[in-house]
Amino acid sequence: MHTNLERVRVPTPKEKIEALREQLRHHEYLYHVLDAPEISDAEYDAMLRTLRDLEEQHPDLVTPDSPTQRVGARPREGFVKVRHSSPMLSLDNAFGENELRDFDRRVRGLLGDEAYFYVAELKLDGLSMAVHYRDGRFAQAVTRGDGETGEDVTENARTIRSIPLGLRKRKGDWEVRGEVVLNKKAFEKLNEENEAANLKRFANPRNAAAGSLRVLDPSITASRKLEYFTYFLYQNGKFACATQHEALETLRELGFKISQHWTRCAGIDELVKFCANWEENRDSLPFEIDGVVAKVDSVAQQERLGWTAKAPRWAIAYKFAARQAETVVEDIIVNVGRTGVLTPGAVFRPVNIGGVTVSLSTLHNEDEIERLGVEIGDTVLVQRAGDVIPQVVRVVQQGEHRRPFHMPKHCPICGGETVRAEGEAATRCVNTNCPARLKESVLHFAARGVMDIDGLGEALVDQLVEQGLVRNIADLYGLTLEQLTELERMGKKSAAKLLEHIEASRGRPLPRVLNGLGIPFVGERTAQWLAEAFGDLDAIMTASEDQLQRAEEVGPKVAKSIHGFFHEKRNRELVERLRHEHLSFTYEAPKRAGGALAGLTFVLTGTLPTMAREDAKARIEAAGGKVAGSVSHKTDYVVAGAEVGLKLTKAQELGIKVIDEAALLAMLEGTE
Ligand SMILES: [Zn+2]
Repeated sequence: MHTNLERVRVPTPKEKIEALREQLRHHEYLYHVLDAPEISDAEYDAMLRTLRDLEEQHPDLVTPDSPTQRVGARPREGFVKVRHSSPMLSLDNAFGENELRDFDRRVRGLLGDEAYFYVAELKLDGLSMAVHYRDGRFAQAVTRGDGETGEDVTENARTIRSIPLGLRKRKGDWEVRGEVVLNKKAFEKLNEENEAANLKRFANPRNAAAGSLRVLDPSITASRKLEYFTYFLYQNGKFACATQHEALETLRELGFKISQHWTRCAGIDELVKFCANWEENRDSLPFEIDGVVAKVDSVAQQERLGWTAKAPRWAIAYKFAARQAETVVEDIIVNVGRTGVLTPGAVFRPVNIGGVTVSLSTLHNEDEIERLGVEIGDTVLVQRAGDVIPQVVRVVQQGEHRRPFHMPKHCPICGGETVRAEGEAATRCVNTNCPARLKESVLHFAARGVMDIDGLGEALVDQLVEQGLVRNIADLYGLTLEQLTELERMGKKSAAKLLEHIEASRGRPLPRVLNGLGIPFVGERTAQWLAEAFGDLDAIMTASEDQLQRAEEVGPKVAKSIHGFFHEKRNRELVERLRHEHLSFTYEAPKRAGGALAGLTFVLTGTLPTMAREDAKARIEAAGGKVAGSVSHKTDYVVAGAEVGLKLTKAQELGIKVIDEAALLAMLEGTE
């Protein structure tokens, strides 16, 4: 045994600070670049707090690349214009396979007999930005602007976690270029929050990303979950690597995020295949993409190909077919939801957009209709994006006999009064017994993933509500075989089956019950957090708004909504009736980390022979596994059912294990 005096020496504050920064940078890299965190957010925050405390005691040791310095700067007056080191590229576009092959013919013609490769990368729909590093440290970020000159957004870009403040392993001066994007989920969430706060909705993730980067207050940028995907690497104003594929690999080594779906193609046929594949599967990505960028891989060949007046001859942007079309608004109708909100929707002359016939879209609320300036009879541009519902982009031409839409003063379902509360975008039916609200709330309660009452569909709920058999969700538990068999199209057998399903739903855990109550802003996730934080329904009901905010993801707005819900006498009576029906009011959180499927991610596809998808999901999660919606490199297993879908093809492409239900059950049994 040797004793090493160095090791027992107490580290100096400087050493402690540096060690902490090193660890924090490592975990930021794992989380934001590799999407593979090893510690929880809470552990990360604790580490960051320790560092901040140390830096406060030793202000002379604070450096601009410390992880504590992401958000510090104050809002600014405006943005300074900055000239780019070299113009930021704008590429020629190719629409369709023929134009792509034309591009390849031009490249082949200029390169003669030489072999060449393409690097194909997904074209993310975001905002281009250049980031400069001096001596390995984050120094400046500049938006694309007009390509020659952009805006200095350094303080805002600093808050984006996938932009390293210090490079891994290497020093020196570098410039990277890439795309600032907001993923579809973050985009939806931002719009929901904006709507709740009575702010404008963003039309698409690209606008939302641009709006979030170009705000004067960096703390707003920090709250928006922007990501930065890089694709160019420069040193001294020139490409830093001899090939594009090496540049991508080097970017990753330096600590930058790159899109994982790039490939090197040996020829035009491979490139065409790559483009076609992603045009078809673009919805499986968490981000919006609008095409594929192909670059000749070798920089020496790029130099020989050179430029036209506007764009390089060695690169092309293959644009996917537009998922927009023009059509006429034939009517604007109103739908009443379970919280009583009246949602206006446009009825279109049916139009085919990217292979899907579209005849309806939501117009969200009065403000949105006003913003669009849309009236019945107008011709509008409609867009279908991802799996998002279609939306009206703008009015193309006003109709000759156009007529404006007015929010009805009376509920179209019950005739009750409608009101738009001050400071709210939504108009609501005030009648708490409105059948529209009741029907929607029963359907929500019975839905898959909520209380799972199979067979309780729309037609049946209509009858139950209209005949007065169901006046609130608790009435479901009092239904009898006689009552059900008297309904239209209801045989004795299906009535008995339905009663069985209703009976079985009594056993659903508290988070499902909470979700089923239909409290505004409380969905599956929030219900889960609430149940885990409080352990029983009575504690949630009696909690103050402040106490409610102890639960994860519950902010002031959600807390207010929950508190308000349980404050209403009607809702408290409903809860008492559900208690009387012996629904689960207490909850013990499952031990996630210890399960034998811990750390494994599953994707379910097709219909499983014996298990409902929700059950399979619940059992995997109970055993510590995760269930994801789409296949990615993070997927460990795809569980395939009867029909075989796209997900399976993709899994095979990525080399992911595909198993059947029997194999899943065997894995689960090993754990139970
Ligand atoms: Zn009504």
